[in-house]
Amino acid sequence: MPRILIVEDEEAMLIGLRDNLEFEGYEVDTANRGDDGFKKLQSGSYDLVLLDVMLPGMSGFDVCKKTRAEDNDTPIILLTARGEELDKVLGLELGADDYVTKPFSLRELLARIKVILRRTANVKQDDSPQRVTIGQLQVSFDDFEALHNDEPVKMSYKEFEILHYLYRHAGRIVSRDDILDQVWGMDYQPTARTVDNFIVRLRNKIDTEDSQHIVTVHGIGYKLVL
Ligand code: CA
Repeated sequence: MPRILIVEDEEAMLIGLRDNLEFEGYEVDTANRGDDGFKKLQSGSYDLVLLDVMLPGMSGFDVCKKTRAEDNDTPIILLTARGEELDKVLGLELGADDYVTKPFSLRELLARIKVILRRTANVKQDDSPQRVTIGQLQVSFDDFEALHNDEPVKMSYKEFEILHYLYRHAGRIVSRDDILDQVWGMDYQPTARTVDNFIVRLRNKIDTEDSQHIVTVHGIGYKLVL
């Protein structure tokens, strides 16, 4: 799983980001000072850094500049404050890959993280994503990509998660509750009906007229047949 370093001095923001990224399956490391974050970047290997601009010890800009000066090209997303328009330009000039402006939506941040990770994964040729065939789709769970006849198929993050869970348990029955716990977690519980709706959408993408891969097990849940 990709490793992400978060450098942020606001504790609530740091914890919120860490928990959400861990929930998404990322491995997370944190620092709450700029100089500490820079040291971690020098010694550790990360796939991406979320870097606040206003930090004690060393500013996010300086962390960015010094990191690039050391030929370290770890992708950096700057967390800038609202109204600091100049920061964005300066940040990108200093070598940041992207920025989000606080307050940002988690969904937007996650999307940007995925775009950058996918871009870097494509650059590393030796690290090409593993594809599996499910029905009429070729799916890469590592980079959230689904193809049908080499054409990309739009799938939401939740659809990938549900399909991944079914895939890991292929040939076995999984209950709706299992899917709810695994994909949505315990805190936020949509209804079993929500799962059914997602399954319908997945079936439309996976199944063909003469082959059904997601089988309904009445009264219990579903089974993926490869
Ligand atoms: Ca700050």
